Parts: sequence; structure tokens; C-alpha cells
Amino acid sequence: MKKIVIVGGGTAGLAVLKNLHRRYKKAEYTIIEPSETHYYQPLWTLVGGGVFPFQKSQRNFADFVPDDVRWEKDYVAQFFPEENVLELKSGKRMEYDVLVVAAGIQLDWHKIEGLEETLGKNGVTSNYSAKHVSYTWQAVQECQSGRALFTQPNTPIKCAGAPQKIMYMAEEDFRKRGLRDQVEVHFASAGAAIFGVQKYRDALEKIVEKRDIQTTFQSNLVKIDGEKKIATFENIASGEKLELEFAMIHVVPQMSAPDFIKQSPLANAEGWVDVDQYTLQHKCYANVFSLGDASGTPNSKTGAAIRRQGPVLTNHVIAYLENQPLQEKYNGYASCPLITGRGKCILAEFDYDGQPDETFFFDQAKERLSMYLLKKYFIPFMYWNAMMKGYF
Ligand SMILES: Cc1cc2nc3c(=O)[nH]c(=O)nc-3n(C[C@H](O)[C@H](O)[C@H](O)COP(=O)(O)OP(=O)(O)OC[C@H]3O[C@@H](n4cnc5c(N)ncnc54)[C@H](O)[C@@H]3O)c2cc1C
Repeated sequence: MKKIVIVGGGTAGLAVLKNLHRRYKKAEYTIIEPSETHYYQPLWTLVGGGVFPFQKSQRNFADFVPDDVRWEKDYVAQFFPEENVLELKSGKRMEYDVLVVAAGIQLDWHKIEGLEETLGKNGVTSNYSAKHVSYTWQAVQECQSGRALFTQPNTPIKCAGAPQKIMYMAEEDFRKRGLRDQVEVHFASAGAAIFGVQKYRDALEKIVEKRDIQTTFQSNLVKIDGEKKIATFENIASGEKLELEFAMIHVVPQMSAPDFIKQSPLANAEGWVDVDQYTLQHKCYANVFSLGDASGTPNSKTGAAIRRQGPVLTNHVIAYLENQPLQEKYNGYASCPLITGRGKCILAEFDYDGQPDETFFFDQAKERLSMYLLKKYFIPFMYWNAMMKGYF
């Protein structure tokens, strides 16, 4: 029996485990996951937007682990890929024949001065925090006048559309409550534009203009004073500081590869797992594979990307174990359901080259109720009932 070890039991790790476990019987499986709770994070936009309670996004991790799979409830601390060994935080060492690294992305909350002290109060919130996502809708409700700020940092993040989806939901709510003249809605981003892919950027820019949303680009949030309600941004080109007062602020922190990966021989120069962007196999260690947010593939980091990476990776793990060539290619597909209000959504789908790679025959850059219902009901249903059972 071969030993297959999977690091991380989030979207990527669990989907890969369940797929391989069903298809490849000549192996013993171990999944290393420190958390007892599995979260369906894409729902947090709708939790923060007051549509679903937080509980809907979580399930017991144990319920997903097949009886004959070993679950190590611990953190991986170090990799020794030359020896095919890894070490857990407890000090325990484990050997493997194949390693799949799916440990997600690290949220660097500490990189914004003052944020950790004030997150969850003073109108400071984030849909990226399991602990504070439920506070987002409260902060929107409590905002009666002044500036509602929504930020996006200068690093890769998971779901690059999420920083603005919650803004459209909040803006709609201010309007419905008759407060739109009193509340300025402001998107302050370190990026150069509202969205990276031209087709959807054009559509979003029109929405931003029509809904009178203020924008500041190339500005990275570096400091928050929660008591005084002042956010400080730094221009990424000039370093010039800009202070903006806020009544509420939705913060998206800087993100990076998990530290234990950054510091390991598996990392590329930026700290992500150094895999080939098409085969998902490590560039130096042939028995190491990676997908999801932790991998060094230059796609937009989303659960949707994992839906396309998963079949490539699992087929390649099996091919590797059977001494067959790795013949499939992941094309960088990612998807982002850009909710623009309750009942409205643009379904962005694109590849490595930023070219649309769409599922439907109609113009997906148009806001549609059908795409909102897809995001709200169909995709979560598929997540729990197909992907988490190993069907991509
Ligand atoms: C607010 C929000 C909205 C989003 N919206 C969308 C959307 O609309 N569509 C979409 O496709 N995606 C969306 N995403 C992104 C999506 O959730 C992620 O891209 C996806 O969860 C990545 O899966 P992953 O398995 O790589 O990482 P995760 O699901 O984060 O899992 C990583 C796992 O690794 C574990 N881990 C961490 N460190 C260690 C360690 N040292 N040892 C062992 N295990 C470890 C963690 O406990 C975790 O369980 C959204 C995310 C957020 C936060």
C-alpha cells in the first residue's frame, strides 16, 4: 500500500481526499487538519450581507472523513521532501509516498496597525474572519450617516471579488433605508482598477458610476484607529499617506502563503508551493502536488479554481503512482460570482490569460437574478453534495 498524505482539510484537501479515496484503493490515506470545523467560505459574503446565518457555512470536519482514513488533528510544522517526511507541531514525523499540500492562504491581520484591537467593534468588520463575519451586517445596519469604506489590499487574496460584493449589498441597503444621501460609499483598493478582467471590469465600472460609489485606487490600508474612526492608506507608488474617516469599514487584510510553507524547501520565491502551473506537480519533488490557495499557480485564488484543479491533480497522483505520464493541463480557470445586490449577480469566469472562460451562452457580464440564485442555492448545494464527496 502506498502512503498518501494530504495537508489541509479545507475545500481542496477534502475534495482531493474523497476523490482519491473513492478511486484509488492501493493506498493508505492520512489527512492533516487542525480544525474540527469545516467552513464553506464563499457563503460568508451572504452571511456578511445579512442573507444567511453563519451556522449555515459550517459543518463538523469529522463527518467528512471516511472510517479508514487517518485524521491527524494537528498542524504541519516542517517538510523534509528529500526524505519524504514531514513533521507535525507535536514533533511527530510522518513518511509519505505522495504528498498533497492544500493548506490554504494565511491572513496577515497584524500587517494593518491597530486592526486586531478594533476588529468586531467600532464599525470595523471583515467577511474574511469566521469570528467577525456576522458583525458585518450589524455594522451596515448601524451605519446611518458618514462614510462606509470597503478596502482591498496589495497582495494576492482569496476571491478577489469578495471585497466589493459586500459593498454593493451594503449600498443597496443604505438606499432601501433612505440613507443614501447621508452615507458615502467608498471603495479604497491597492489595485489599479475595480477588477482585473477587462470584460467584467467594464461592467463593474458602469455599476460603480451609476450607483455613485467613490473609488480610490493604488492605496493600501496600513492603519486603523477604531476609536477615532480613521483609516490610513499608503499610496503604493508614491508612499504618500491618505487619512479617511469612516462610520463603518469592511477590511480585507493582506494575505500570503502560510509561514510553514514559506520557510520550507517546497516554496517558490514568493512562498507558495512551487508547482507546475499546468500539471500541479512540484517542480523539484515529483511526489509532491499542490492545489488551492497555497499553490504557486498564478490563477485567481477561488474554490471554483479547485473544481478544475482537482481532477487534474487526482489524475496525476494516480498516474504518478502507476508510472504513467502526466497528461492533463489546468488552464487557470477561476470563477467569481460578483453579487451586486440581493437578486443580482455577474458571473465572472476566466483563465490564466484573463480571457473569459464562460459556462453559459448568454452575456455573463450582465447582472442577472439567475446567477444570484446559482450563487445562493445551486453552488452551495453542489459544494456539500458533490465536491465534498469527491465529485468535481
Ligand atoms: C469572504 C469569502 C468569499 C469567498 N467567495 C468565493 C466565491 O464566491 N467563489 C469561490 O470560488 N471562492 C470564494 N472564496 C474563496 C474560497 O473559499 C477559497 O479559495 C477556498 O476555500 C480555498 O480552498 P483551500 O483548500 O485552498 O483553502 P482552505 O479552504 O482555506 O483550507 C485550508 C485548510 O488548511 C488547514 N491548515 C492551515 N495550516 C495548516 C497546517 N499547518 N497544517 C495542516 N493544515 C493546515 C486549515 O485549517 C484549512 O482547513 C471566498 C473566500 C472568502 C473568505
